[in-house]
Amino acid sequence: LNLEGITLEERKELERNVVFSTFEQLKAWARSNSIWPLTFGLACCAIEMMGTGGANWDTDRFGVFYRASPRQSDCMIVSGTVTKKMAPLVRRLYDQMAEPKWVIAMGSCATAGGPYVNSYAVVKGVDQIIPVDVYIPGCPPSPPALIYGINKLQEKIRYEAKTGKKVTGE
Ligand code: SF4
Repeated sequence: LNLEGITLEERKELERNVVFSTFEQLKAWARSNSIWPLTFGLACCAIEMMGTGGANWDTDRFGVFYRASPRQSDCMIVSGTVTKKMAPLVRRLYDQMAEPKWVIAMGSCATAGGPYVNSYAVVKGVDQIIPVDVYIPGCPPSPPALIYGINKLQEKIRYEAKTGKKVTGE
């Protein structure tokens, strides 16, 4: 589309009526509005995650639908303490998810070991075994905090498609 020679007014009118986008941005828009997390929880944070998916907080309105199979999921919300015994299974579930996929570390346990940071049995952050896109602090994080984290993930998916830049965990 050649926009040379058009006036500022004409350009504004055009932007009001035409959506400028790329196929990658359209895909990212669709993906960011249909995030399907894997249904599993590791400890007490999972109770908050379940509450967030319920009627009061209703994450369905963001297109977030929990799936029982990693094959159908594109997001892993690590909600709870990652023990060293559980870590290989978390990694296996992550590997079974199809690309593109994202990870949210929910709560201080998943982020850095939490209250069990000195335990020999606990992994000091799930990012030691899988890449994390969004970290949510708290013990446990409240439903609004989880929703904020999901919204940040949506922003990240769209931003990466728009700029072509990879954003590391935030
Ligand atoms: Fe439980 Fe707190 Fe760890 Fe969440 S961060 S799993 S609430 S101890």
